[in-house]
Amino acid sequence: MAAAARTGAAVPESHPRAESLRIRHRLVRGFEEGLVAAEGLLAHGRGEALDYLLGEETGVAARQACRAAAAALRASDRPVISVNGNAAALCAEQLVSLAECTGAALEVNLFYDSPGRRGAIAERLRRCGAKSVLGLDPGGMAVLHGTDSARRMVDRNGILTADTVVVPLEDGDRTAALKRAGKAVIAFDLNPLSRTAQTADISIIDNITRAADVLVEECRNLAGEGGGDSRGGGGGANLARIVRDFDNKGNLAQAVRQITGNLGRLQGMRAAAGGNGAAATAITAHGPQPE
Ligand code: ATP
Repeated sequence: MAAAARTGAAVPESHPRAESLRIRHRLVRGFEEGLVAAEGLLAHGRGEALDYLLGEETGVAARQACRAAAAALRASDRPVISVNGNAAALCAEQLVSLAECTGAALEVNLFYDSPGRRGAIAERLRRCGAKSVLGLDPGGMAVLHGTDSARRMVDRNGILTADTVVVPLEDGDRTAALKRAGKAVIAFDLNPLSRTAQTADISIIDNITRAADVLVEECRNLAGEGGGDSRGGGGGANLARIVRDFDNKGNLAQAVRQITGNLGRLQGMRAAAGGNGAAATAITAHGPQPE
């Protein structure tokens, strides 16, 4: 079967999981186009399961984390957005917008590395308007100590010298290595229990397909803050206050409550139905409702 026919299958709007299926199609297309690693498809599955439990909606905790992340990015002098295959396939356009409105650099950084995949991801970013993409020149790379995966190779003009790094769909090892290197880390992760979410300074517990838009919007909302250059470089008092007031552990606990609240509702509905199979089917077909 042709690739287009496989991934372009129409998803009926009436399907209760329509958006989730469209996201899957985007990833599979990314895989066929050489952006996404086969393992990235599986990593998405882990995220999808968590998204189901979160209610497939951006909760209050994720919004607060986006606001703090926007303030941190605007207050940073050398912010960098680390881009892997899944992130590029799912939201290259939003990441380019985020880079534009914060002055952040975009750097390709991969766990399953290959020059072909780096090139394909950079090309996707450029097609979405990126003027410059780091992480492509082997001569410009350096080692980030503290992690053994291919992700340790970072650009001297990018992650190596960044003060703040945005890590979408990251692995915990490198998040810890970035922290040890003195960087502030902002993570997108659907799993509030992952090592990444637990280690980052600001963890946005939401699907990147939704949260990236929220983060861009929050960055635009804070455009006037801090004075100075276009992104408020150096950081105004308000930006510093927003970052200082953000409690990542408390925010993660709130995301866990969002999940347990949904599970509790599901359990309650099952109990009310007396274990009735029809009611259980109705619940699972539509997913838990968000808080
Ligand atoms: P860690 O090493 O941090 O404990 P992990 O081993 O679970 O995490 P990986 O398998 O490297 O991490 O990456 C998958 C992570 O990305 C998972 O935590 C998953 O929840 C998250 N993820 C997958 N898809 C998305 C998405 N669309 N938006 C946000 N997060 C996602």
